[in-house]
Amino acid sequence: MEIVILLGAPGSGKGTIASRLAGEDPAVRHVSSGDLLRGAIAAGTPAGVEAKAYMDKGQLVPDALVVAMIGDVIAAEKTAETMLLDGFPRNVAQAEALERSGAKVRSAVLVDVPDEIIADRIAGRRTCPKCKAGYHVKALPPKVEGICDKCGAALTVRKDDNPETVRDRLVVYHRETEPLVAYYEAKGLLRRIDGDQGPVRNAAAFKAAM
Ligand code: AMP
Repeated sequence: MEIVILLGAPGSGKGTIASRLAGEDPAVRHVSSGDLLRGAIAAGTPAGVEAKAYMDKGQLVPDALVVAMIGDVIAAEKTAETMLLDGFPRNVAQAEALERSGAKVRSAVLVDVPDEIIADRIAGRRTCPKCKAGYHVKALPPKVEGICDKCGAALTVRKDDNPETVRDRLVVYHRETEPLVAYYEAKGLLRRIDGDQGPVRNAAAFKAAM
């Protein structure tokens, strides 16, 4: 199995792209570190309890916790040919841990969206708490307002999607995560796509780049 890393700011559309590609091809698996952490919080596990305080503030959860969690998911995967890693690694220490684990990284694709567009995108973001499907009130609305197309659950706004926390998450992104662009560029693994083409074309561009 090979790993493709999705790089990009919060709200750049990484999750939408990855779930679209995984939905089209059973050999592709989408793994979102944020969804795993939100699942751990909902389940009340010790990892979830530890992670919650950081996530509510828009800060990164400690590396050891996330590295162990993603390591378990990679080790348990038996059938996928490609794993799309969405939200991990989030800093250079995590990228180095991934490399030390021996996992094979095929590419790291930067979904490029200017910060000015991000705040707007996140303001309209809605998520299904049950099946994790993502929507946007304007760009990707559900068929019935407020209801998940896939499983019928009531859509919610993520707790960390409020404007103040989004600002903090963008600061963290530029400081901690953006250095990964240079990290993967130096390894010859970086690709870039314009992430402002709409959900269908973004996914097609990503597929061609990865
Ligand atoms: P996301 O769903 O990717 O936007 O992640 C939501 C939140 O989960 C982030 O703001 C962090 O608090 C936490 N998180 C997700 N992935 C990681 C990671 N790789 N390292 C540290 N914290 C993470």
